[in-house]
Amino acid sequence: MTSNYYGDVLSLRPPLPRPNRVLAVGAHFDDVEFGSGATLSKWSKEGTQIEILVMTDGSKGTWDDHQDGHALALIRKEEQLASARVIGEGVSVKWLNWIDGELKHSSRTIAQVASEIRKFRPDVVVSHDPWKRYRLHPDHRNCGQIVIDAVVAARDPHFYRELGKHHRPSSVLLFEPDQINYVEEVASADIEKKVQALLSHKSQHQTSMEDRSGENDLLEMTLTFARRIGKEYGCELGEPFHIIDDV
Ligand SMILES: [Zn+2]
Repeated sequence: MTSNYYGDVLSLRPPLPRPNRVLAVGAHFDDVEFGSGATLSKWSKEGTQIEILVMTDGSKGTWDDHQDGHALALIRKEEQLASARVIGEGVSVKWLNWIDGELKHSSRTIAQVASEIRKFRPDVVVSHDPWKRYRLHPDHRNCGQIVIDAVVAARDPHFYRELGKHHRPSSVLLFEPDQINYVEEVASADIEKKVQALLSHKSQHQTSMEDRSGENDLLEMTLTFARRIGKEYGCELGEPFHIIDDV
């Protein structure tokens, strides 16, 4: 048993068997890497097939007033592909190209993700925790909620019949969790890959990595966090999630 920041007591779930197929869905380019990059690197190295689905087009990921959004979106797609290659061989990437900052929880977006779940047929779906308290960015909240609703839509045969044969993933892993109930133990090599993948998003060094653009700083910060989680949850290095394992 362990408690979270708010004093809620949760049981820590036992380690998952390595999944064969994982669909990781992020609102933006680099969200999946921030939340689950070490876990995905570890699983990819061990043979898991991974697809990253990015909901938005990345066109507003800059603090530069004069940056052209369309040009930025193209740069960011190249960066995302480079990042996926770092995460692991054969990691594929798809985009849904909703306008950055304007992602909506709607039957359209739910159907798009449900369709991807039915096509790719993952054992585990990874995404944002929509129930994280005080989360500011609407795309993160909405993406998490879209994914949860898409898992339900994909698993139930009477939902969206036109999207193909229903599919029930065995677990949903929510990153940056409000309540930690699952920690994936990772190695320092997996953390290094996570950081290398993040650094592949070169256009984001100023915005999402702020003043941590020095490789060592980001690596040290990421290792420090993984050590803290590990210490709290009984391993050397860990990445935290909230797992839903009764899908
Ligand atoms: Zn984001």
